This record gives sequence, structure tokens and C-alpha cells, in this order.
Amino acid sequence: MVRMNDLDHLLGGFTLPQARGRLVDFWAKYRVLFPRHQLWEDVDAGRKDPACCVPILIHGDEGVTYKKNGLLVLSFQGVWGHGSSKRNVDYRAVDEGIPLNFLRTGFQTRMLICVCPKELYQDDPRIWNAIFEIVVADLAACERDGIDLGGQQGRIFPIVLANKGDWSYLVSSGNLERSYRRAPKGAGDQGDFQVQGPGICHLCACGQGIDWENMAEAEAAMEESHTVAMAPPWERECPMTRLLLVDGEVNGKARFHQVDCWHSIHLGVGKSWVACGIMTLQQLILDGTNVDSRIEVIAREYKEFCRRSRLDPIIRKIDVRTFGCTTSPEGTWNKAAITSNFMMFLEDFCERRSDLIEQHERLRLFVVGTKHLNKFMRGIYANDALIPSALALELGNSLRTFIKAYMWQAHAAYSLGLSFYPLYPKLHALHEVAFELKRQSRIAAYCTNPAIFTCSLDEDFIGRCATVSRQVSPRLIALRVLQRYLAHIQSIWARG
Ligand SMILES: [Zn+2]
Repeated sequence: MVRMNDLDHLLGGFTLPQARGRLVDFWAKYRVLFPRHQLWEDVDAGRKDPACCVPILIHGDEGVTYKKNGLLVLSFQGVWGHGSSKRNVDYRAVDEGIPLNFLRTGFQTRMLICVCPKELYQDDPRIWNAIFEIVVADLAACERDGIDLGGQQGRIFPIVLANKGDWSYLVSSGNLERSYRRAPKGAGDQGDFQVQGPGICHLCACGQGIDWENMAEAEAAMEESHTVAMAPPWERECPMTRLLLVDGEVNGKARFHQVDCWHSIHLGVGKSWVACGIMTLQQLILDGTNVDSRIEVIAREYKEFCRRSRLDPIIRKIDVRTFGCTTSPEGTWNKAAITSNFMMFLEDFCERRSDLIEQHERLRLFVVGTKHLNKFMRGIYANDALIPSALALELGNSLRTFIKAYMWQAHAAYSLGLSFYPLYPKLHALHEVAFELKRQSRIAAYCTNPAIFTCSLDEDFIGRCATVSRQVSPRLIALRVLQRYLAHIQSIWARG
């Protein structure tokens, strides 16, 4: 990228000299948040100039090849991008900040590092491990020695802030032993294991004698994870935290693996929230002789709402099965945008029936949770990579209010004998995001925006890589996908 003068793709379209001021400002704010990050040793010793340090992220995921097999795709991306499409009148981006990297396509803004078909590594973990060793050793050398810009221009140092991806990828790539995979699967396994077990969170001690469903107890554990050293969440440390610069604070290495709140919501608890909310709404306030006709009302109004709001409804046929069933509702779609559409639709739908909603406590609190979750999502995407603390605290509180509302609904449903609002460990992952905003807002004037760790555009990137992988010889997938990716970006970047 240096050779071809393409560095601006890591800097939101700016050249390094143009970006200097904002990079210095970014790192000064970052340093207040993470005063013990290992980067500062190099900065203080004069080995690195913050104006030449470019914040980047590693992303990984498994796409699907033509045989429906997995395809590991690793990439890196600039934290600094061209912004996001979500600008809201309630929020104004900070003028001098670093905009989010959620505009343009995945191919324009994500840089492919590695492609590997699952059949090569699924039965042999040595291959998976070797991939990460090679990729991370390369990134670590860039971080440590920098990249020569040639002439008198000096060096730039890409600094990897975090590893991001869905929870499943984080567990696999970080060798995380404490994770959702250790949480009990069904109602029969509940009980003490939920509280007293190997742990459900790589960041804190929840699930190891601490009940994550008790929000006060969980928050105390999160607080403690910043002051008391814990056993690492892995038996075998992955190369990322072994070789790259990390936060030197206690348990800072575990925090290198960052939770994606977008995925946890839109492809996780948000789906249950929508499905259970719609089933409750149709039971309590909609007219109609049977559930099918009442769901028809929802379907019709959803489509109208999408037309009014210029949203693609995506889902054409909506019936009871869309929301699982009446007794144990669950969103059956697998596109995040559908959850996001429904969340916005439900806020509008309930607003126009506020007199009926007021009569039912469960619905009243459903509206509170929905509004707060929408506020959080809109708020993070309408801001820059760093958010002023007062606003960050407000957004963190909104996310926390949603989680609390979800827990309340789960307990209300339980006491009514309903199997609504299942309690997934993803709620705890979201609780971590909310807590981190609160913690950072306490110590600094700016907080890191959790949106930078979300993977909405990365899913687009993975999808494009997977599409290419289906068009090439299955025996040469890795080589051909890399070649075609390079050909693609050459033409896209040349066009500017
Ligand atoms: Zn935790």
C-alpha cells in the first residue's frame, strides 16, 4: 500500500501529512483511556511518533463456499473511515474526530490478509494455529519496526487495537475457554452450573461463582476485572496477545478480543425481543379473531412503515412462523437489517397505540426497552470513533436500560408460565459493552465508540469474498480469491 500510495485507505481518504493532527489528537485521547498500553513505552522512548501511528483492527469470520463449507477470511481495516450512513438530528459528529469506517463497500475499506477453506483446518488445529502465527508475526513486525515510506518521509506504524468478529470467531481465534459455549444449553442444565462453572465471559468472572443474570453482581465482577488480575481466559495464549502491543492494565490482554454489539443484538437477543414483543402485542392489544389475522395487521403495517421510511422490508412474507410460534417466539430470519427494521417499526407502531400500551405493564416496558435500544444503535453509528463522555454515558445507560428491560420481561414471562424472552449469554456480552462506556466515561473526556468493533460492513466483505470463492476452482480457492480481490481493489481504488 505504501509503494502504490494507497495509505489513504487506512486514513479515511487523507494522506499521512494531512492526517497528522487528528492522529496525534486521537492517541492523546486514547492514552487517557488506556494509560498502561504498551504503545506508550515506544512513544516515550522516542521510537514512535503518534503522528505516524495508524490505528487498525483485525477482523475474522467464516464465509460459505460453493459446497456450503466454511471459509476462514482474515482482514485488517483502518479504524478511520469515511463515516456511516446513520446521521441523526439528535447527534452531531465531533468535527475534529476520526469518522467510523462504515461507508463504501467492504472491498474498498477492508484489506484481505488470508483465505483458508475449512476442510484444511477443521480436523487439524495446527493449520488454524499456523495461519494466526504467520499473520500476526507479520503484523507485529509492522507494529514494532514500522514501514519505510521511502525518501525522507520516515515510517508509519500500524497499531492493532483489537481483534473483532462474532462471538464464535473470537472464541476460536482467541482460544477462549471462558465463553458462551460454556453456558448451559437448555432449561434442564440450568441451576448452579449457570453461576458456578468454568465461566461464560472472557472479560470477567461471571459464571465462575457469579450470576451474570444479576446485573449488580455482574457489574461488580466487571469492575473488579479492571483492578484484580484473573487467570487468563485461555490455556494456550493466541499469538495476537503474545506478539502485538496490548493494554498493560490487569487483564488487558483479554480485552484485546472485542465484543460486537451489533451482531449480539441484530443476530441475537434483538431477534427474541422483536418476536416476543410482537407475540405479546398481538395477544394483548390487537383486534382479530385469530392469531393469523392479528399477525396480518402487523405484516401490513410493517410494509407500510418501510415504504414511508424508505427502507427495504427485505422479508416479503410475514406470518406466525416468522416469529417462531405463539408459545415460544423466536425471530427466524438471519439478516440483521430485518431486526433493525422491526425495532424501528415497533417504536412507531407502539407510539400510535400509546393509549392501549399504557394499560399493560409488559407492553409499557417493552416500549421503554425498544426506544432505548434504538437510541443506542442510532447514537453509536451517528458518532465518531471516539465519543464525548457525557454522550457515551447516556448511550451506555440506554443499552443498560434495554438489558434490564429484557431481564424484567424474562422474569415476568416466567412468572406467567410463558417461555418468552430466553436469557442468552449474549445479554452479558452487551452488558460488558454498556459497562465499558460507563467505566470509560468516568475516567476520560472521550470514550471509544463500541461501533468500531461491530462487523456490519465486514459481513459484506466476507460475503463478497465468499462469492468470489464460489466462482473459482475449488482446489485453488485461497490463491484465486486473493488474486481476484487484488484485481478488484486495483480497479476500485484506481477509480477513487
Ligand atoms: Zn463479563
